[in-house]
Amino acid sequence: MDAQTILIILLAILSGEFLLDQGLSFLNKKRFKSPIPALLQGLYKDENYKKSQAYNEENSKFGLLSSGFSFILTVAVLASGFLGGLDEWLRGFGLEGTPLALAFFGIVFLGSDLLSLPFSYYHTFTIEEKYGFNKTSPKVFFMDKLKGYVLMALLGGGLISLLLWLVNTIGQDFWLWFWGVISVFMLLLNMFYTSLIVPLFNKLTPLEDGELRQAIEDYCKSVDFPLTNIFILDGSKRSTKANAFFSGIGKNKKVVLYDTLVDKHTTEELVAVLAHEVGHYKHRHIIWSMTLGILQIGLMLFVLSLMINNDGLSQALGANQMGIHLNLVAFSMLFSPVSTLTGILMNILSRKNEYEADAYARDTYNGEPLGDALKKLSTDNLSNLTPHPAYVFVNHSHPTLLERLEALLKK
Ligand SMILES: [Zn+2]
Repeated sequence: MDAQTILIILLAILSGEFLLDQGLSFLNKKRFKSPIPALLQGLYKDENYKKSQAYNEENSKFGLLSSGFSFILTVAVLASGFLGGLDEWLRGFGLEGTPLALAFFGIVFLGSDLLSLPFSYYHTFTIEEKYGFNKTSPKVFFMDKLKGYVLMALLGGGLISLLLWLVNTIGQDFWLWFWGVISVFMLLLNMFYTSLIVPLFNKLTPLEDGELRQAIEDYCKSVDFPLTNIFILDGSKRSTKANAFFSGIGKNKKVVLYDTLVDKHTTEELVAVLAHEVGHYKHRHIIWSMTLGILQIGLMLFVLSLMINNDGLSQALGANQMGIHLNLVAFSMLFSPVSTLTGILMNILSRKNEYEADAYARDTYNGEPLGDALKKLSTDNLSNLTPHPAYVFVNHSHPTLLERLEALLKK
């Protein structure tokens, strides 16, 4: 395939995805003013419902603006052959091979991140601030950025160097080896996420002895789920929005509750939320989604191996000689429709898993406090109660609040 055709395909993919995204957001937006379903009546006090509508409206406008900006920018970068020019400029300093690739990705990553910085700053300090969610200070905001860059340089840079080394020493079969490395990397990341990555950004404190700890331990004993690592995370440092998550496998399991979650919920509600998370473990959802994630990466790397040395990809980006780093960028764009598709399939699976975890919490603990907790989480976060089904189908990893409450009532 010649470079011109590849460039046209890249632009078509980019436009198609932008249109799909905006089309779904548009459908969703038309639903913001829908009447509240009977089961959710009384959830929002009148003024709060108006506030949630305004919040969703504002976020949707902001989404159009920021993704419109990045769409136009990407089209301009592609059409002008900017990336090929950047490659040539860097080669002018005598760079080649891995150093060239690292410099190239460093500049592309930093450039695009700095261009999106005003958007994320505005989102945090204007929109989130206006609706009372933001607790971040500019200092924390920029420190987070800096730490993110260092992590990205170490992990991303390390993986890219390894990939290039494998391509150069093994040739087309590099993908099998790299697949193995990535799989181990993902496993390690999952195992050490709470002990290595989270502490870089937040403080974790073991949950003190008391009513909550006792209730959690009692529940875990009742379902034969050994859990001793329960931590509180200072989420209130950044936002009032609440969350909870599990990480680790085998004996290394840890549960992390945001302080904002603990503050706003009763002990019963917190145990119910935890029971939902235990449900994910008992149904082996974690192992399954990780396995599927690894299979997806394998597919992606295999397809990559078919075009890693294709001159046309580099030329489509405006370069006059082949560069593996250029091919990686072009490939990631060419592959994105497949990623979108697998993303939709993973969301379908994830929504099914959420129902199962909810049912597990209902059957082994109590569905009522779980329903109460879900309602509180939705209203505290000013969630849109009536999203469009097509939007949910593509974008949501969780069923809507209404669907979950209805399912909890069914036995
Ligand atoms: Zn869940």
